[in-house]
Amino acid sequence: MTAENKPEHLYIHVPFCRTICFYCDFCHVVYTEEVADRWLDALTIEAERLRDVKNLKTIYIGGGTPNSLSDFQLRRLLDLFAHIQCEEYTVEINPESLDQEKVEILRDHGVNRISMGMQSSDPEELKMMNRHHTMEDLRNAVNLLRQAGIENISLDLMYSLPGQTMRILKKSLEDAVSLEPAHISIYSLTIEENSVFGRRGYTTADEDTEADMYEWICKVLPAYGYEQYEISNFAQKGKESRHNLAYWHYRDFYGFSAGASGKEGHLRYDKPRNLKAYIADPFTREEIPLTREEERFEHWMMSLRMVQGMDLEEFRERYGISFTECYPEITHSLIQRGLLECDGKYLRCTKQGYPIMNEILEEYL
Ligand code: SF4
Repeated sequence: MTAENKPEHLYIHVPFCRTICFYCDFCHVVYTEEVADRWLDALTIEAERLRDVKNLKTIYIGGGTPNSLSDFQLRRLLDLFAHIQCEEYTVEINPESLDQEKVEILRDHGVNRISMGMQSSDPEELKMMNRHHTMEDLRNAVNLLRQAGIENISLDLMYSLPGQTMRILKKSLEDAVSLEPAHISIYSLTIEENSVFGRRGYTTADEDTEADMYEWICKVLPAYGYEQYEISNFAQKGKESRHNLAYWHYRDFYGFSAGASGKEGHLRYDKPRNLKAYIADPFTREEIPLTREEERFEHWMMSLRMVQGMDLEEFRERYGISFTECYPEITHSLIQRGLLECDGKYLRCTKQGYPIMNEILEEYL
């Protein structure tokens, strides 16, 4: 890979949480100081790959829960990338374990965007999910961040939770908006087999309720000044997540640490989810070489998530062939059926197409 086409984005996965949410099957283990120290030793070795990298567009530290680390460990983690300048530097946090000291560590290392796990404001729902924060914790965390000058705050919420009613969802969303975040991500719950919810046989809301909830969310958030720019993401003007936009524009990105994925050139890779395997060899990864055809399809799949759709000129420049030449009949048929639309520059889902995006993609497969 030449210097010109090195990734401009970096994702680092922190695989620790203080407690485990019952819906979650991400790569995480319950935090212990000793294991986190060994993980940091491994990450220090892996971070050597970026020793000569001085500039990136975005860095995103997700998890897991990055602020489950001790103050000393959080500082150690951020020090590894302190030589890199970037435009957007996001860290995911959970509100209950954020205090003044941690906020100062984040700010002093140039973190300028926070993605905070809220999920719901309903105490019963939070308890059902095994989440240990309150609205008060959330308010305090937002205030601490603002006082430190970190204004770019995103809140993560969920809908279609077991037993959730429209009334509870509305209250959660109103509570979220009352904190005036710059950005809101809201995902429908998927019950993962390996999560506690999966093992206990919990179910999401039925299909019709879920569709009603989504329709309502897409109507109400713009009314509060949050424009939808992706299927699950809404932002105040100019506050879209640049890091996530890079994924949806199918850009390359480094993926560091256990449980991360990355894409560099024509190679996608997954780092081991097993923490012991990562600590034993921080460079180990499963590599998936991509054919041009696979890249074109993945590019389309990611771009379709955005409200603006896919930039047709960018596609042609990147692959040396126009999108309609790649998929002439299917695209024509989907436009005829009112599921896709094209304004000459972008190809995107219509309002009718958006909720059945997966079915649209299946036609391309
Ligand atoms: S949802 Fe986040 S905080 Fe909860 S267990 Fe999963 S990674 Fe940890």
